[in-house]
Amino acid sequence: MQKLDYDQLTNCMRCGFCLPACPTFKETGIEAESPRGRISLMKAAVDGLMEPGIRFEDQMNHCLGCRACEPACPADVKYGQLIEGARDAIEVHTTQHRWWVKGVRKLVFKELFPSQQRMQLLGTGLHFYKMSGIQKLVRKTGVVGLFSKHMATMEKILPDASGKGIVERLGTFIPAKGKKLGTVGMFRGCLMDVLFTETNISTVKLLTEAGFDVVIPESQNCCGALHAHSGETDQAKQLAKSNIRAFQEAGVDYIISNAGGCGAILVEYDHLLHDEEEWKEDSTWFAKRVKDISTILVEKGRPLRYADTLSPQGPTRVTYQESCHLRNVMKGSQPIKQLLQRVSNTSYIEMKDAGSCCGSAGIYNMTQPDMANQILEHKMENVNATTASYVVTSNPGCLLQMKLGIDKHGQTGHMEAVHIADFLYDRLVKQS
Ligand code: SF4
Ligand code: SF4
Repeated sequence: MQKLDYDQLTNCMRCGFCLPACPTFKETGIEAESPRGRISLMKAAVDGLMEPGIRFEDQMNHCLGCRACEPACPADVKYGQLIEGARDAIEVHTTQHRWWVKGVRKLVFKELFPSQQRMQLLGTGLHFYKMSGIQKLVRKTGVVGLFSKHMATMEKILPDASGKGIVERLGTFIPAKGKKLGTVGMFRGCLMDVLFTETNISTVKLLTEAGFDVVIPESQNCCGALHAHSGETDQAKQLAKSNIRAFQEAGVDYIISNAGGCGAILVEYDHLLHDEEEWKEDSTWFAKRVKDISTILVEKGRPLRYADTLSPQGPTRVTYQESCHLRNVMKGSQPIKQLLQRVSNTSYIEMKDAGSCCGSAGIYNMTQPDMANQILEHKMENVNATTASYVVTSNPGCLLQMKLGIDKHGQTGHMEAVHIADFLYDRLVKQS
């Protein structure tokens, strides 16, 4: 009762308009696997009509948190807030976690993600794993597959990690090229910065070309999205406060994210801290300034030119797999499509159901591999139908999931998954 907004629970008028938008309902056809069903379960638990036991917990965990149900809802039910509240309540009261699950959760949520230094150590370790030959040996012996087939598949798409993040590579201030239009703060992301450092570099370079001074506050940390989605709300709040201070001290006009999953919680820091009066003004200041890289390029930046190399086969075919959080929370899908349509010598192909989740959803593809795979299979039918050479994404999780799908479908070499920032920067026609 303390964690869930009762008004939101009763706002749901059970119309069912959200059902066709929900990936878990589309896969199963089961009411309890739908937004309406989950809201009914939450309300029944709050009303004391049912015990929120393990089966309740399972239903809450089956939800991808993609929030596709929100834009479909005529009553504007804030489902994202409800599911986070439900998971928070489960985490406070659960007795189900085994000792080792508790240990892993503590290690990941409290020790690893909040510390960028530890994330960089992880990046160094993964880099060593790839470069030292251990990876080749692991693959040859198939040892990972002995533990889990799914882990072995995920290992195949491990990106090139780095122990040196963007600050170590570019510094904390990168001046605008040409006439300055404003100052932006770059949100580097904890995993993003060690697994996709090159994408962060492309993002900064696009921003400077578009006329922005870029500041990268060193004291920023993880956005807290995984914490908030996993019932670790107190830790998410601590991370939010620290990020707010870091960007306020940097004195920026906008805060730029290049990961839909991070951007969606950054833009809702005001809600995350809504019950802390002393943070109201600062969290609103922060949330209002958050923009995705594609949005700032379209809305505020100097127009840039992009061109692909003209190939004898004609324009390169490009499609876009939307990030659920960029689409449903940040409302930022259109700028990416506009940018893709501006690239010369390419042909933009709209994917059927591009806005439907790919099954990545943070750590969902690791915690719920069966459902994630089922969703990915349906997604790949639509991806393959585009016959595109590039599948552009705007979130690291979607990027890895698309790489996984491409690999599983034997499309490697014909099709490539790529982040929008890398796709654009590689095709940028530099100003003289
Ligand atoms: S967040 Fe996504 S998976 Fe969860 S209920 Fe809403 S549409 Fe379904
Ligand atoms: S669309 Fe909104 S009001 Fe209708 S059932 Fe779904 S959550 Fe409830």
